[in-house]
Amino acid sequence: MSQHHFKTEVSRLLDLIIHSLYSHKEIFLRELVSNASDAIDKLRYLTVSDEAYKSISFEPSIRVVLDRESKTLVVEDDGVGMDEKELEENLGTIARSGTRRFLEKLPEEARKDSNLIGQFGVGFYSAFMVADKVEVTSKKAGTETAFRWTSDGKGEYSVEPAERVGPGTEVRLHLNGEGQEYLARWTVEGLLKKYSNHIAYPISLVSEEKKYGDEGKEEGTERKEEVVNAATALWRRPKSELSEADYVEFYKSFSASLGGFGFGAEGAEAEPLLWMHTKAEGAIEYSTLFYIPSKAPSDLYRADYKPGVKLYVRRVFITDDEKELLPVYLRFVRGVIDSEDLPLNVSREILQQNRVMSSIRQASVKKILGELAELAKVNPDKYAKFVEQFNRPLKEGLYSDFANREALLGLVRWKSTAAEGWTSFADYRSRMKEGQKAVYYIAGADEERLRRSPLLEMYRKEGIEVLVCSDEIDELVISGLGQFDGAEIKSVSRSGSEADFGEAEKDEAGSEGGAEVAQAVEKAKKALGEAVKDVRASKRLAESPACVVVDSDDPSLQFRELMKQLGGGELPDVKPILELNPGHGLVKRLAAAPEAEAEDLAQVLLGQALLVEGAKLADPVDFAARLSRLLS
Ligand code: ADP
Repeated sequence: MSQHHFKTEVSRLLDLIIHSLYSHKEIFLRELVSNASDAIDKLRYLTVSDEAYKSISFEPSIRVVLDRESKTLVVEDDGVGMDEKELEENLGTIARSGTRRFLEKLPEEARKDSNLIGQFGVGFYSAFMVADKVEVTSKKAGTETAFRWTSDGKGEYSVEPAERVGPGTEVRLHLNGEGQEYLARWTVEGLLKKYSNHIAYPISLVSEEKKYGDEGKEEGTERKEEVVNAATALWRRPKSELSEADYVEFYKSFSASLGGFGFGAEGAEAEPLLWMHTKAEGAIEYSTLFYIPSKAPSDLYRADYKPGVKLYVRRVFITDDEKELLPVYLRFVRGVIDSEDLPLNVSREILQQNRVMSSIRQASVKKILGELAELAKVNPDKYAKFVEQFNRPLKEGLYSDFANREALLGLVRWKSTAAEGWTSFADYRSRMKEGQKAVYYIAGADEERLRRSPLLEMYRKEGIEVLVCSDEIDELVISGLGQFDGAEIKSVSRSGSEADFGEAEKDEAGSEGGAEVAQAVEKAKKALGEAVKDVRASKRLAESPACVVVDSDDPSLQFRELMKQLGGGELPDVKPILELNPGHGLVKRLAAAPEAEAEDLAQVLLGQALLVEGAKLADPVDFAARLSRLLS
């Protein structure tokens, strides 16, 4: 027998589970049954796809055995099993890196919200909430020796050779004081129906029950063994037979089967926001059942996110680790694709080029986007909830999925200067003023700051709506769109966009103090030299003295920041264009100022315009010195 210590993270996880999840301790059963089902899925797949396993004949089933005498609860499967090494790796460490990272940040958050950890699938270790000793006896399919892993969940475990007839795994819980409520048949039966009804394999519940005679007299005990779950693949049943509760319950057990912390924060307890169930018949036959979670998974923005869609072929599980089943931007969708036409031994390479798979994929994307559009129409409040969670992935779709661009343009939402809440392009279009030439947006990091930007002054004065884009990918997405429904989509921070203001405005600026502002521009050019690309009289400012814009085809400040973050490297420095407000006192003062003062004024105008845009000043000490000189 070999004795081992848990990796520290396992000890911490155990501790957290036992202390934070205690009020949900019944979920241990769901977790163990999901593991059993996964193990059968894996073996079933091997027996149809791999010559070496074809001789194994098995009747897939899961058994839950209760024994009052020894106070044990057993979950047994005839699945793929684990060898010695896998027992150590899977049960002695936390294999998934996402789990580890989650753990690192958990304690603090868990303190704030003791329910938080309850929202996560917790896997095998949840057994220690109800047991003071767990024995896992397993034989890996295709091997001859079984091994037993034993632990009291307190820091150590051991692994030793053991006896077991066929391949599969037996998880034996020695129930602790409180765990003994799970020796009652009706309790366990209720839990299996609640959490595991739609597991695709039959679950037999086995226990010794009292036997009653004709007069209702007790006559010893008898062994009772019954299948307690529906054991059907829900997605293959006709919609007409399924209730809302069926769909929700399936979502919950499905969520649990995605397993572990990698599943993320929508949590196995949460209700889905929306589901769509399709059965396609004809040239290509398949069933799909997709769910939109009500909360974004915690790994949504991680490169190592866990995909949420499982692929089945004629009800045989193929994979839950294939990121290409749906486009990446739909990675928040959970559900099942079950094809009639794919070969069972389809490999990842084949899958990615397969004609059947690609048409299922295309139709699925259309279906999902179509249902979302429908939701937006019939239930805007619910759609707003969706937007809160998933607007950003949809925006990613705008630059990655050209084929569905129109649909996505209809689904993404923006903040706006003209309306509370979310605005669509169509909303904006319908509010455009007579003669307004373009859809305007302002992009940057901070919504509040954007709303107060001097660049918006003239738009506000003219009553022109501007979209406020403060999501970090907004700049990238929206600047690439070009146009919507015949109207150009333009940034307010570019030179040229102000040309859209009415002609009257232009003349005003031209006549009123035209010579004065020309002087101010000249002086500023001289004082600022190479620091700016140009200095101009502005038509877009009402209250502020100055602002900076970028030239019509230079990358914006925000865009350069984003490229840096995405690892695209530093783009070459772009010089701003300084615009001066002809009507502002400071600009008039600049026009009349002697050379030394003019230089301070010009530098301070540029400095503050940059600060307002969220840029860092190259030389803050110089800026402060000039400002003090002007003020004293
Ligand atoms: P998860 O199921 O989320 O991966 P668990 O902690 O429940 O996390 O299980 C860890 C790993 O142990 C599983 O990924 C699986 O490889 C293995 N495992 C657990 N239970 C079984 C079982 N009944 N049969 C075979 N392997 C299992």
